[in-house]
Parts: sequence; structure tokens; C-alpha cells
Amino acid sequence: MLNLKDQSLLRDSGYIAGEWVGADSGKQFDVFNPATGEKITSVPDMGGADARRAIDAAESAWAEWRAMPARKRSKLLRAWHDLIKANAEDLALIMTSEQGKPSKEAFGEILQGASFVEWFAEEAKRIEGDIIVPAANDRREFVLKQPVGVVAAITPWNFPSSMITRKISPALAAGCPVVLKPAEDTPLSALALAELAHRAGFPKGVISILPASHGAEVGAEFTSNAKVRKLSFTGSTEVGKLLMRQSADTVKKVSLELGGNAPFIVFDDADIKAALSGAMTMKFINAGQTCICANRILVQDGIYDKFVEQMQQAVANLNPGHGVEEGVNMGPLINQKALDKVEGLVADAVDQGAKVVHGGKRHALGQTFYEPTVLTEVSTDMKVFSNEIFGPVAGLYRFSSEEEAVKLANDTPYGLAAYFYTQDMGRLWRVGEALEYGMVGANEARFTNEIMPFGGMKESGIGREGSKYGIEEYLEAKYLCLGGI
Ligand code: ADP
Repeated sequence: MLNLKDQSLLRDSGYIAGEWVGADSGKQFDVFNPATGEKITSVPDMGGADARRAIDAAESAWAEWRAMPARKRSKLLRAWHDLIKANAEDLALIMTSEQGKPSKEAFGEILQGASFVEWFAEEAKRIEGDIIVPAANDRREFVLKQPVGVVAAITPWNFPSSMITRKISPALAAGCPVVLKPAEDTPLSALALAELAHRAGFPKGVISILPASHGAEVGAEFTSNAKVRKLSFTGSTEVGKLLMRQSADTVKKVSLELGGNAPFIVFDDADIKAALSGAMTMKFINAGQTCICANRILVQDGIYDKFVEQMQQAVANLNPGHGVEEGVNMGPLINQKALDKVEGLVADAVDQGAKVVHGGKRHALGQTFYEPTVLTEVSTDMKVFSNEIFGPVAGLYRFSSEEEAVKLANDTPYGLAAYFYTQDMGRLWRVGEALEYGMVGANEARFTNEIMPFGGMKESGIGREGSKYGIEEYLEAKYLCLGGI
């Protein structure tokens, strides 16, 4: 039993059409704490029939929701935001328990998640179309921005709360109802958000949350059901491609936030302290399990040895453990599959000549803990170069010229986030422009917030979340021509 101030935030049912319900099949699945292996609770294992019910309820709710004045929708979002903030400690504890990240990181995520709700509560009031100079004098021509319709969303386990608010809030602000399937490892954070949305007073059917142990069945309904007009997905590139293919028959609009392979470039002329601090955060936050984590640390010849030494020291100071314990700053990996993958990537790198200068194996804490690891002399033939590591493994590559660094950085089908450190003004511009990534941090690695557009190029995705662009993903631009004037 979790020690929450408000036990009613720990929900063990699905949420469809404003009701707490079980799965049609009666099936359930267990949710575990990855740091201890203990079962927290069980939740309904929902499938196609449950998804259909939620979609029907969303469609029925749509007319009233889109007709509601934007200011009123905004007030409901604001009420949800206030409740999330007021319950942030409990929400963070639920998250740490099912996901493993340290309390401080979990708390930070809850606040960032709330900031998306606040941002889109405001954006709801700023949906603006255009008046166009007409092609003829007897006409008047306009562009109306209208809600796309029922939105289906699928979210991952690495940010179990903020990925949900980043999708639901702009959709609701735009006038679209949402049905959402959270990741199987972390349904409790999603259900707690649903409980608070229920208290905020959203109309029935506007939000539904469907936990499921295997996403495929709910995903198949979300993508094939013609009532769903838009799919928003965050997760692996592989599943994103599958969902995009499945959505083709009904030509759904899609927003995809997929995998990354972020380069983190440190030039000889970098402020080494700033670069190290950025690299430590962007490599080890969430135990390396974020799509914008530094996946390849490219360090220029002249500074390489010094950087390795300093990184080794910084990594030695990390304190892995159970996220609720004081001083712990790195949690376990999410599950056994993730642990096996990281182990395999390190073994492949070592086989091919990489040197382990710190860590390099499962942690003595057991469960799914892996030691924070630093590999040197890493090369482009190794799997760590081309695969998203999703674990606390820093691979350091050597390069000599700016041209080589940019080429290495762009040598991937992914294009989500990139980072580079230099004090040279000309290089700041050149490299900033040359990197084929949706988000680039120059001398700054902690750049995500509700105000900036989050999203990727190439196989990292389609569309942007957060920012003034985020709401556009849920709006149609309708051209209206009034003739005979
Ligand atoms: P990861 O490998 O990091 O767990 P996934 O892309 O598998 O990333 O998971 C992201 C989300 O996609 C989760 O909610 C998961 O349940 C869901 N998912 C996985 N496979 C499918 C599928 N075939 N159809 C719909 N959703 C899926």
C-alpha cells in the first residue's frame, strides 16, 4: 500500500465515459514496482470492445465539447491544472512506485506535466483563423480553425504523466475529446490524472483512459475506427511506423514522437564544466531512459582525455537506488527486457574494442538496476552508435574536425534532439544550422518546457507538441468562401 495523503488517487479501474469501470473481458493485470519487484495493484486489461465504447462516448461528447465557449474549456483545464499541482506529492509517489525514477525527478515531471495543462488552458483562448484578401469583389474569404474530432492517444512509460498532459491538454483546448491508452508498465499515473480530471468536472466522455497489458488490441481499434480522426503517439519508432501503417486505411491525421539517437558534441573550445554538467543530466536523467538522452557523446581530440577523466569522476558520484530514498539520484530500468537490451549493447561494444572505465554490469542492488557506465574508444561500427540505448551508458567517441562531428552527428535515420558545446560564435551558427534535428541545444542541454516546440525530424516523428505549434496538431484549417456579396 502506498502511503498517499489521498488514497483515492490510487485507482484500480479504467475510466470510460465518466465512469470507473472494469474490462469487458473481466481480465486484469498486475502493476509492479521496478525497484523492489513488489506488486502495487492490479488494473483492468482492456481490449477492442472497451476501446470501441470509449470512442463512442467520445464521439457523443464531441458536439457539446466543441460548442462550449473556449473560455469555459479553458477554465476546466485550469481547474485540472490546479488539482494536479495541489496533489503533486502523491502523484510523484505513485510515479516513483510504478516507474522507478527518483522522487525529485518524479515531482519535477508532475510540475512540467501541469505546465502543459496551464499553457493550453491559455492557448484555448487564442485559436485564431484568417481573413484573406478575396480573389474577387463579390466574395469574402476566411480560414476557420476547427477541432479535428475524436483523438486517440498512446503514451509511453518513461514520462508516465507529462506525456499524457502534453497530448490531452491541447486536444481538449482545441475542442477534441480524447481516448488514451497509457503504457502497460505505468497505468497508475494515468488513472490518477483521470481521477483529478473527473474532480475538475470535464463532461462525460471527453476523457477516457484505458489500461491494457498489450497495446496491440486497443491500438488496432484506435487506428481502424473511422470515428477516430487523429492519432497521437509517443513511443518507439517501430511501433510508430506500425500505427501509421494501420492508420492509412482511414487516412487519420497522425502526430508521432518517436525514438532518438541524440549526439552530444563537445568541441575543444567548449566550457568543459558546462558540457560535463549537461552531459551528466542528459545521459543519466531517468536512468538514461528518455528519447532525448545523450546517446552518442562526441568529444574532440584535444579535450577527450580530460573529459573522460571528469566524466568518470562525476559518474562515480551517482547514487543509484530506490527512488523514494533520500539522496538517490538514479533509479532502476523499467523492466527485464530493458535490462537485457542494455547488457547486450555493452557486451557488443566491449567485444569490438570499447573500454569500460566505469560500471559495465548489472548493479549489486539486483532487480533491474544497471550500473552507471562510461565506455571509451567507442566507434561507429558498434551497436551503441546506431541503437537508442535507453539506459545509463555513456559512450564517448573521438573526433578531430567540425566537419567530421557534424557528419557523425547526422549519420542516423533519427532526428530528435542534439546538443553541442563551443565558445566560438561562428561555430555556434554553423553547427546549429547543420544539425538535422528538431531540437538543438547549444551550450544548454536542459531545454524542454511547455513554451518550446518538442518534436523530431526524419524517423523521429511528425508534428510538434507544446508551444504555440502544439495546438495546431488538433485543428483543421477550413477555407470558407462567401460568394454573391
Ligand atoms: P517501449 O519499447 O519503449 O516500451 P513502445 O513503442 O513499445 O516503446 O511503447 C510505447 C507505447 O506503445 C506503450 O503504451 C505501448 O503499450 C504501446 N504499444 C506497443 N505496441 C503497440 C501496438 N502494437 N499497438 C498499439 N500500441 C502499442
